[in-house]
Amino acid sequence: MRNGVGIMKNFTQIVGHDEVIAYLQKGIEEEKVSHAYILAGEKGAGKHLLARIFAATLQCEKESINPCGACRSCLQVDGGNQPDIIYVTHEKAHLGVEEIRQQINADVAIKPYSSKYKIYIIPDGETMTEAAQNALLKTIEEPPAYAVFILLTENSNIFLPTILSRCVTLQLKPVAPASIKRYLMEQCQVPDYLAEVSARFSQGNVGKAKRYATSEEFMQMKQETVHVLKHLDDMKNYEVVQFIKSVAEHKKDVNDYLDLMLLWFRDVLMFKVTQDPNGLLFADEISAIRKHAERKEYEGIEAIVNAIEKAKIRLRANVNFDTTMELMVLTMKEN
Ligand SMILES: [Zn+2]
Repeated sequence: MRNGVGIMKNFTQIVGHDEVIAYLQKGIEEEKVSHAYILAGEKGAGKHLLARIFAATLQCEKESINPCGACRSCLQVDGGNQPDIIYVTHEKAHLGVEEIRQQINADVAIKPYSSKYKIYIIPDGETMTEAAQNALLKTIEEPPAYAVFILLTENSNIFLPTILSRCVTLQLKPVAPASIKRYLMEQCQVPDYLAEVSARFSQGNVGKAKRYATSEEFMQMKQETVHVLKHLDDMKNYEVVQFIKSVAEHKKDVNDYLDLMLLWFRDVLMFKVTQDPNGLLFADEISAIRKHAERKEYEGIEAIVNAIEKAKIRLRANVNFDTTMELMVLTMKEN
């Protein structure tokens, strides 16, 4: 789906991100398109889709604020073979200086093949090394008139100040759950209840909501997580770690479980503060939430939330899985 062959075709079909879309369209309309953009947002937030539709709009022969979907360029975008929209790829974990030199710097002086612009999309901006950023900087400081760079990143803080100052940074915000729910029901034929739960648990992330709503495992995953959290105090550390391990081995993404655990303890904290079950994500587990809220101190809940967040960061940084989980479970049980 990265290059988005044959899916959504224009801005009006995107759920949320109204401000970002309005900004991009205004730039096109007023012919004030920047040379470099950063689209920042977590995985699943919609960066790839926005970049693809923006690029398609810029290249569309009808020159409007939405791609026409019918001209040669639009059809090429649909087929994933628009020659003047270039996705920068990398084999290793990091996007290094060689990739930037070969795929951008050595290529940018060649005029567009058949379109108005030559657009470079860098999908994993957060993996760029400093050397790669410096190599890119040389090009975006003095780009040819037709060049547009779109850097996608989960985190714009990794960029050098010199890169940031040359780019327009657009931060994607969480999308309202009601909009996500409507999208899931209308566009993906997800039944009402599942759409509701998926939208709320996605925390405003459309990609995540869609994944939750369309995978049969989400409801089961939620149940399993609740089961463990309810019995946390009766379980031995190794039993909890064992559970998470079995999850990681059999299921797709351990991050989903960690997210659910995070949301659970946020509920616990929220309930401890407000004593109000309304608005809790796990409202149907109120007695267990109440029990945790009564037993745990504020500092303890905070420590747990931090431990889960830290575990997510460690996993992303490829720290040993068992060690990471053991540390997290230890904090969860100690507090
Ligand atoms: Zn077109």
